[in-house]
Amino acid sequence: MSLLDLDVIQDEERSIADDAFRAQLASVAPDGRRKWIYAKQPRGTFYRWRTTLSVFLLAFLAFAPFVTVGGQQFLLFDILDRKFVLFGYPLWPEDFYLVVVLFLTGLVSIVLFTAVLGRIWCGWLCPQTVFMEMVFRKIEWWIDGPPGTQHTRHRGPWNFDRLWRFATKQSIFFAISFAIANIFLAYVVSSDTLRGYIEEGPAGHAALFLSLVTFTIVFYLVFARFREQACLVACPYGRFMSALVDDNTVTITYDTKRGEPRGKWRKNDPRSAVIDRQPSAVAADLGDCIDCHQCVVVCPTGIDIRNGIQLECVACTACIDACDEVMEKVKLPKGLIRYTSANAIQSGLKKWFTPRVKGYSAIWGGLVVITSTLFIARSDLAVNILRSPGTTWTVTANGSANFYDAEIINKSGSDLPIVLNVEHPSKATLTTLGLATYVKAGEIAKGRFIVTIPASIAGTGTQHNIDITIDAVSNGKVIKQIRTEFLTP
Ligand code: SF4
Ligand code: SF4
Repeated sequence: MSLLDLDVIQDEERSIADDAFRAQLASVAPDGRRKWIYAKQPRGTFYRWRTTLSVFLLAFLAFAPFVTVGGQQFLLFDILDRKFVLFGYPLWPEDFYLVVVLFLTGLVSIVLFTAVLGRIWCGWLCPQTVFMEMVFRKIEWWIDGPPGTQHTRHRGPWNFDRLWRFATKQSIFFAISFAIANIFLAYVVSSDTLRGYIEEGPAGHAALFLSLVTFTIVFYLVFARFREQACLVACPYGRFMSALVDDNTVTITYDTKRGEPRGKWRKNDPRSAVIDRQPSAVAADLGDCIDCHQCVVVCPTGIDIRNGIQLECVACTACIDACDEVMEKVKLPKGLIRYTSANAIQSGLKKWFTPRVKGYSAIWGGLVVITSTLFIARSDLAVNILRSPGTTWTVTANGSANFYDAEIINKSGSDLPIVLNVEHPSKATLTTLGLATYVKAGEIAKGRFIVTIPASIAGTGTQHNIDITIDAVSNGKVIKQIRTEFLTP
């Protein structure tokens, strides 16, 4: 084999190694085993902003189910009892259409925001990232030390130092997972139910206790073991994100034009940014990336952002901070890794309001209008009326009578009066049988009533049905008109 052949083979091998990120996750070894990510703690502006935001988000998450607005839990997602409360606004099973339009609007919002700003949700707002990077990872750094120390200790023997750190860290992780499970249950079964369970103990609430244990174990395993894999292999959003971004999407990007060709930094290196390139730098023929790998060692998913946009990038901004710190040290302009688009880097074209984004915006705007209108138009009282099962008609001294079952739902935060009247035919009368005239906030009143129609209208001997209209009146205002049938003899 000639030296030329050897060079060609080596070049091919290098190019395969360089491209390995396309075929394999950074957190999975070639033999399929998990490669544990020991991420370094970032320092910098973005990390400080994210920390501040995470404090607000965690406080909101922890307190939202325990705050009440107008007698309603601020946020509630009670799937079993089919009751949802959004920012103190209760939604009942009858309002399922609102849940559907709200869900659709949320989905299109995600599509729109992803098309414009990439995975901004993942890096700044997602509970998985906030808990992992701002709670669990910080505890790990605090107990286990920086990544190098962690790595060395984990490869060493189970001595006292390793044991106590392991036990302390896992105990804290488990305690936090238990707290998260409690908060999670307050969202799905209501904080009142959870409070009752805490006061009365688990004996009388076996199902709730089992759920609590299950969720604690799940959260513990996610944050102590599964970690970044949740974003990489389990999260559906991460999967379809690649279909939503394009070269105009503003996301965390390495400036290849400015950074390449990369090369190690030497003391008094004449390199400077392309925008300010000195003749000596052109001669040196090197870009601004000094190949220090700081952007890689801080990455919680273990990737190299210099390879371009990758599915594993959760847009956490750690690499921006790491690179800015390096740039500052070597006296080059910051922003070698920054929020920008591939097109802005390649051609200087900053065009985010593309035809695709315009299309998404139009759909999103339409959905926002529809959703708002439906919410505004929703009545505080829902009235359901059905003819009582198994009954037909009764002939009385005043004519014919039919029995009806009524269900009145008060969706508002205050008690409301309710009166039922027959609007048509005008000569009909309505007599309630135990149906409440007041419905308490957030409660359902059930009862029966009789509608009597004079014989002159109902007739006899020729069975036919009469369409009747019943008004539900609250505070002198007709809040709903219900049409139903009246059976005649
Ligand atoms: S931190 Fe910046 S300079 Fe260092 S390797 Fe990453 S991109 Fe290059
Ligand atoms: S590449 Fe940068 S932004 Fe993306 S996950 Fe890694 S550190 Fe975060």
